[in-house]
Amino acid sequence: MPKTDPHDLPEGKITPFTCPECGGSLWKARTGNMVRYTCHTGHKYSAQSMLNAQNSEVEAALWTALRFLKERALLLEEMARKASSSKYALSEKNFHEQAQEVRKHAEVLGQILQDGTRAAENPAARKPIPKNSAATKSAATRRRRQK
Ligand SMILES: [Zn+2]
Repeated sequence: MPKTDPHDLPEGKITPFTCPECGGSLWKARTGNMVRYTCHTGHKYSAQSMLNAQNSEVEAALWTALRFLKERALLLEEMARKASSSKYALSEKNFHEQAQEVRKHAEVLGQILQDGTRAAENPAARKPIPKNSAATKSAATRRRRQK
């Protein structure tokens, strides 16, 4: 149960991490082989439960980013149409190009999210996570080129 006294800080060393539930700072304490993260309001996590909570946060943030990218593309197309009707050909072209670029980013992000959803629905088909992001990026690029 979360604490009520804000001056009663958790045991251990403060970490650069924030609590997935309340956004507060997290302290790390070790008991034998167990590591426990506790925020100042009393939310507690093991290393594994922190990872799980962070995964959920990252996925939610990516879906939000995808929604913003799609909204941005729609707004840019609207601005292009407006520029077209007011005979600003250069602005129209510029807005269309920006909208295309944003759509490409949205497509890449949407593909990553769909791949993640498929992997979550079918864990047996999940590929091992590459050790560096460059490998992840080149794999994503190869998949796009194969289409
Ligand atoms: Zn918390």
